[in-house]
Amino acid sequence: MFWQEQIELLPREELSELQTERLRRSLAQAKKSPFYSQALKGIDPQDINSPQDVRGLPFTVKQDLRDSFPYGMLAVPRSQVVRLHASSGTTGTPTAILHSKADLRAWANLMARSLYMAGVRPGDVFQNITGYGLFSGGLGIHQGAERLGAMVIPVGTGNSRRQIALMRQFGTTAMHLIPSYALRLAGVFAEQGLDPRSDTQLRIAVIGAEPHSEQTRKRVEDLFGVKAYNSYGLSEINGPGVAMECPEQNGLHLWEDAFLLEVLHPMTMEPVEPGQIGEVVLTTLERRAMPLIRYRTRDLAALLPGECACGRTHRRLSRIVGRSDDMFIIKGVNVYPMQVESVLMDFKAVGGQYLIILENKGEADSMTVRAELSPEAAGLSPLERAGLARNLAKALRDELLVTPAVEILDPDGLPMTQGKAERVQDHRKLS
Ligand code: ADP
Ligand code: ZN
Repeated sequence: MFWQEQIELLPREELSELQTERLRRSLAQAKKSPFYSQALKGIDPQDINSPQDVRGLPFTVKQDLRDSFPYGMLAVPRSQVVRLHASSGTTGTPTAILHSKADLRAWANLMARSLYMAGVRPGDVFQNITGYGLFSGGLGIHQGAERLGAMVIPVGTGNSRRQIALMRQFGTTAMHLIPSYALRLAGVFAEQGLDPRSDTQLRIAVIGAEPHSEQTRKRVEDLFGVKAYNSYGLSEINGPGVAMECPEQNGLHLWEDAFLLEVLHPMTMEPVEPGQIGEVVLTTLERRAMPLIRYRTRDLAALLPGECACGRTHRRLSRIVGRSDDMFIIKGVNVYPMQVESVLMDFKAVGGQYLIILENKGEADSMTVRAELSPEAAGLSPLERAGLARNLAKALRDELLVTPAVEILDPDGLPMTQGKAERVQDHRKLS
């Protein structure tokens, strides 16, 4: 059941003591770096007496990582760094994240713990359909799956036919991939006259790296005949292996022996109540080469109240509803792409991909939602498509309180993106 039973079930008081001690150590370590020797000036790690004392410390933001690029946050001699990663740069210039040998060992262990929790076992054939290279998803998942004792196929992204061939030749039982690609891949199975439910041995899909709705998870599960588990992480905080769903599939356990979690109101920076959405702020407790203190992830989620039936004591985050940067304002209303996705995915005739386009037409801003048809609905007549567009517009208006224009596209009508799916194009900023 558990990869590290003792630590996963650690009573809260003991977890809290462990965090206090590790926070002190982490602060002392951070102060060895040029950046934190300044940022933490006058702060004595010995003054930390509980995890809550983290609230007296300054925040770290992505810009700080950019400003101290490449070595300004390094807290060990350069010669002890054995790996460089970078964020994928979805929201701007990338940042450099440096790891020591001990950091990589700790990360691989957290990743193995996460995968084990999702049901991956030694002997599983694990196909890692994630970009390798600087992006932390590839090697991050890879080293964890290897550590766990699975047979890893480090195939990387793209070439769907080859992915399918490998799955069938080697009897892949578990895969890691981003959810938008999982839906594409299911379409390629169908094109080849194959059904992943009967033509593969897949049991588990680990899906993450981009926001997705509960409806999308269900689709992945139905199309592939697997259990799909949400996996969360970000390069600045290692990458994958920060939080993951357990078999209850109700929230993601965030590994609190390794990270100190705060969920804060993004304006006031005060803690929000459990169940309320706020910004996830993380402090690394184990990292040596590049500790981060109160890192503002800009990811929005809620802390789930109550205990989990699986017995793990590490608290759970809701699925990430989006990044604070993803939110857009149209006609005075705040909208997250995830709200649009949830509505679209309730319609069986709608496929996996969609794109929201914001424009400024004359006086008013306009919002257009382009949605692909699912392969089964490819044969809809023009009249039926128009009816679907009307129904979608109405359902979106009920959810968002704004009426978008809806365009229905053929299956695969939207361009394929390498890596994370693009969900919003805001042309208003250009004019
Ligand atoms: P970038 O910020 O350039 O995309 P990363 O590749 O490090 O850099 O991606 C981390 C980000 O991806 C997270 O901050 C979060 O916004 C998103 N992300 C990762 N996993 C999930 C997930 N399971 N659900 C929603 N969003 C996720
Ligand atoms: Zn659980």
